[in-house]
Order: sequence, then structure tokens, then C-alpha cells
Amino acid sequence: MLSGPQNSSLDAQVGENLRRLRLRIASAAALAGRDAASITVLAVSKGHGAETLRAALAAGLTAFGENYVDEALPKIQALREARPVWHFIGRPQANKTRTLAEQFDWVHGVDRPRIAERLSAQRPFHAPPLNLCVQVNVAGEATKGGVTPEQAPELLDAIAALPRLKLRGLMCMLPFDLSEPEQRAGFARLRALLEAAQARGHALDTLSMGMSDDFEAAIREGATLLRIGSALFGARG
Ligand SMILES: *Cc1c(COP(=O)(O)O)cnc(C)c1O
Repeated sequence: MLSGPQNSSLDAQVGENLRRLRLRIASAAALAGRDAASITVLAVSKGHGAETLRAALAAGLTAFGENYVDEALPKIQALREARPVWHFIGRPQANKTRTLAEQFDWVHGVDRPRIAERLSAQRPFHAPPLNLCVQVNVAGEATKGGVTPEQAPELLDAIAALPRLKLRGLMCMLPFDLSEPEQRAGFARLRALLEAAQARGHALDTLSMGMSDDFEAAIREGATLLRIGSALFGARG
């Protein structure tokens, strides 16, 4: 690995951002009466190159989230030796499912049975089952992906029957302009859906919710996986 002045300042900056983020996570967890160790930070690395991801690894982060398959592949290749956990958090397209099934450890944002069927059929046999989260459009936004809350149980049942997938939980993204009480209400809705699915017998352990601008509300409502980009790496260009 290169280590010039530039890389060490990048390391220092990402390290400092992560330190501040962990303090905010710890306070929100304390307010919620939760153990901060039950909350994982997924570093959302879209728009950033391999050197920034190396700084994140040096700071102790071990999981990355990418939105675009073609952008992610060179980074997956560049960081192969470090073996981070790769999450696909974009909208999965049917013509990219083979690459997703071969290269990623998790796929969030699944909202159609056809995508899940393809991922299961295309997951290589030497690999463990692909971890999956179903995206729910809790705010009912027309422009966002995700099933409606009413459609979620049927999709969860269909995915649970697929052999090469491991259904882990639910994912959501809220609109950017909500007040804190509105954020909490949206996240609470996702948690209620998770609890209902658990009560119907699904062994789910993941609530993928909360981004740089709303993760504190997400923690209050039970988030286990925060998807954090700009708070770690600065604003995207
Ligand atoms: C970009 C993105 C994030 C991270 O957003 P920040 O506001 O930069 O933390 C999280 N989740 C998804 C699905 C994203 O596309």
C-alpha cells in the first residue's frame, strides 16, 4: 500500500470522522437503552476510490456499500486481499444479478420476486448463501424503490423459500426533508414490519435503516445496520 503524505492525511480524516460518528452512535444508543455494539456501520463508498476505502479499512471499518455494479467491481478487485464485506445497496437490475450473486455478500433493495429468484439461481455453489434485505417504501414515495408495507409479507415468504439466499431483514430509505418525529415514525414502521415477520416465523436480525442525516432517529427505532456515506467521507461531488 502507498503511504505518502496524502494517504496519511486521508487516513487521519476518515479516522477522525469515524471517531465522531461513533460518539454520536454511542449517545443515540444510550438514549435508546441499546448496546452500541449491536449497531454496525456500513461505509457507503459510492463516488469514492480505492484509496479512500483503504483509509476506511485502516480506521477499522470492514463493510462497504456500493450502489452501482460497474463502479464497484474495480474496487472489489483492488481490495481483494483485505476481504471486506460487500453490500449492494442500489436498485438491483435483472441484467446485473449474476454479477451481484458472484461478487457481493449482501444485496439490499430487493423488491421483486424475479430479482430474488435470479440471485438464488446464480449464487455460486462454493459461496455461502447470499444475504438479502427486502426494501420497503415506508413513506409511499412514488419515485423510490421498495414494496409497499402491505406487499412485504408475501415477498418475504417467497424469498424465504429460495435455497441460495439468506433472508436477513428489511431496508428503507426515508425522504430527506422529514422532521425528527417523522423520521422516527417512518423507521418505527419498518421495525413493526420486521417484528410482524418474526412473529410469523421468519428468523430476521437486520434493520438496514439510517443514513448520515437520520441515523440517530434510526438507532432510536432499532436500526442494526447504518448506511453511512457523507458523514465518513465528506460530501459527494
Ligand atoms: C448514498 C446512500 C446512502 C448513504 O448516504 P449518506 O447520506 O451519504 O450517508 C445510504 N443508503 C443508500 C441506499 C444510498 O444510496
